[in-house]
Amino acid sequence: MTEHLKGLSDFHCHLDLFPDIETAIAQRERDAVFTLAVTTTPKAFPRNKELAECTQYVRAAVGLHPQLVDKRSHEIDLFAELLPNTRYVGEIGLDAGPQFYRFFEKQKSVFDQILQLCAHAGDKILSIHSVRTAKIVLDMIEARLPRTRRKFVLHWFTGSASDARRAVECGAFFSVNTAMLSSERGRKLIVALPRDRLLTETDAPFIRGDDGNSSVPATYVVRNELAALYGVHRDEISAQISFNLGELLS
Ligand code: MN
Repeated sequence: MTEHLKGLSDFHCHLDLFPDIETAIAQRERDAVFTLAVTTTPKAFPRNKELAECTQYVRAAVGLHPQLVDKRSHEIDLFAELLPNTRYVGEIGLDAGPQFYRFFEKQKSVFDQILQLCAHAGDKILSIHSVRTAKIVLDMIEARLPRTRRKFVLHWFTGSASDARRAVECGAFFSVNTAMLSSERGRKLIVALPRDRLLTETDAPFIRGDDGNSSVPATYVVRNELAALYGVHRDEISAQISFNLGELLS
């Protein structure tokens, strides 16, 4: 496995929403944390890409967040234009929460276009938001992404146990965070997942208490809590997550 995948990883993080993105990136480099810097709009991508290019551990993803699709759907053209510049795509997906449901049809249209663009391009790795929409997200992935062009991670997954089983069959990886680990439901879901599909994420700065300034970086907290959940040494979890990341990126 290549050197940069051996440490901890954060496969879904909004570095550009920290008070200072350059400091946030420098921190990831210093701590050797492989980080996927997702973006919420295509417009935000070029700056992330420019900064990530000078690093060993940070990768920039181009995204169009489902919660922003109402006002930003026109940026799909810019998304298509930027897609050849990165292997990583996110944050994308669907959100059927009450605040976002009124433009759900628009969300589906944008997500569908993104999946088609990714299928056409090939070799993309997707970080997907699926709040209250696990089933339809999986339906769309199955319809649009052929098996050989299907590498995706369900970020902060909150679907049912049967949704999770179907997602596993569909080839999903799962990036888990401290919010999931803090609920009984989330912990039950995580232990039922195959360990070789697990990744870690912080979704910083969206999880409370994770402002990038705490003494113990959130990636360590996720790893340690996973170790406690499984009752194994944290090195075992680190090794497993590194292995999984290597598989995903291979
Ligand atoms: Mn996010």
